[in-house]
Amino acid sequence: MAQDDCLFCKIVKGEVPAEIVRESERTVAFRDINPQAPTHVLIIPREHYPTAAAAAAADTGLIDEIVREAHEVATAEDVADLGYRLVFNTGSGAGQTVFHLHGHLLGGRGLNWPPG
Ligand code: 5GP
Repeated sequence: MAQDDCLFCKIVKGEVPAEIVRESERTVAFRDINPQAPTHVLIIPREHYPTAAAAAAADTGLIDEIVREAHEVATAEDVADLGYRLVFNTGSGAGQTVFHLHGHLLGGRGLNWPPG
């Protein structure tokens, strides 16, 4: 169920523009507006879940699907061989600012560990 005040629900509905790079029946992948790597794509479910943990707890299978979709995008953008990072910020203390589940796909450059 979409939430009226949710930015990413609005992107799913086409009410806020985004550069969409891939879609599936249950997910949408679009470029982050403030990219942190040459490839920085957000993969989200069409359905609203506030966090990855909430979707996992509901046994939706969406986390698997987001991981699969992220790998497809990484392959299409030719960053899979170098290696990429898939991040689910969970909670404001971890930097989550949009409370609609999204995986950050970051690739196309060397990525340091630990992250900041
Ligand atoms: P979070 O901080 O919640 O893990 O990630 C939210 C991400 O959404 C950020 O990387 C931010 O740059 C991105 N973002 C915020 N507003 C918009 C927007 O309107 N369009 C797009 N494409 N990305 C956005």
